[in-house]
Amino acid sequence: MACAASPYPVRVNSDAGDHAVRLLGDVLDHGRVLILSGAGISTDSGIPDYRGASGRTRHAAPMTYDRFVNSAADRRRYWARSHIGWEKIASAKPNVSHDAVSRLQRAGRLSGVVTQNVDGLHTRAGTADVIDLHGRLDTVACLRCGTRRPRFELALRLDAVNPGFREAMAADVSVARPDGDLALPDDATDGFRVIDCRRCGGMLKPDVVFFGETVPGGRFRKALGLVDRSDALVVLGSSLTVGSGYRFVTAAARRRIPIAIVNRGATRGDRHATIKLDMGLAEALRLVRVRYTSRLAPSRRESAANVARPMPLTPPKK
Ligand SMILES: [Zn+2]
Repeated sequence: MACAASPYPVRVNSDAGDHAVRLLGDVLDHGRVLILSGAGISTDSGIPDYRGASGRTRHAAPMTYDRFVNSAADRRRYWARSHIGWEKIASAKPNVSHDAVSRLQRAGRLSGVVTQNVDGLHTRAGTADVIDLHGRLDTVACLRCGTRRPRFELALRLDAVNPGFREAMAADVSVARPDGDLALPDDATDGFRVIDCRRCGGMLKPDVVFFGETVPGGRFRKALGLVDRSDALVVLGSSLTVGSGYRFVTAAARRRIPIAIVNRGATRGDRHATIKLDMGLAEALRLVRVRYTSRLAPSRRESAANVARPMPLTPPKK
């Protein structure tokens, strides 16, 4: 925890302009970097965050695992809304920040990319070996036999047993949510038919971690293990409210590697951060993208000469 004598974290906002970007660049210069991204990286792709800069939830509570598996009515409403809503997610395009991460990886700067998002946009931006901590919305899993199938296949089956539904809902579609859920009036979804697993008749569920569920242990350990092989952690667009994300920060803090957090608004990990950039991701990653994606990217030495380092990045001994 930062005490009075500690210079950390360095906090800057968008007023700091290029200085903020250089600070982030210094962390990226520190060695192999682990990226942890959250909903904030996808807002520029038109996928809204649950929480704004205030950290308050903007929408009605999302579906929980308990309600999904225990209430046929809730499950029907979820699938009806999600059937319409997920198309918005599926048609979203990666933005400049996803692209920056992909380029950093190709430039050999990264030890790994872990995301809390379920939209698959990192992968679609060309980033390899992304660990989707909370699963992927474009996959559907059977809760009984474990079969996983592409979401588009389920969408075709749902269209077939719910003729006219999509057309009827088109006028009601408002704003998609990060989990592909959508606000639709309940009476509009009452007659919606849900589909079960083709193989075993079991209950189908989007292959994402719902609220009230935990991240599968093996996936989580693999992701968290990347911290041990990294020289720095960069958090992009996450308030770290969800415990699984916060644990990456505490693990990095225990290893005393630099931690940069780029997020509009306060995050749960701020007190552990070496650098906190309170600004939009596109702005923060703008110069980073140029600096590390050109074949003529400056060497570390040049970079150090050009940048007035306010302090070394290794946190002081406690
Ligand atoms: Zn099954």
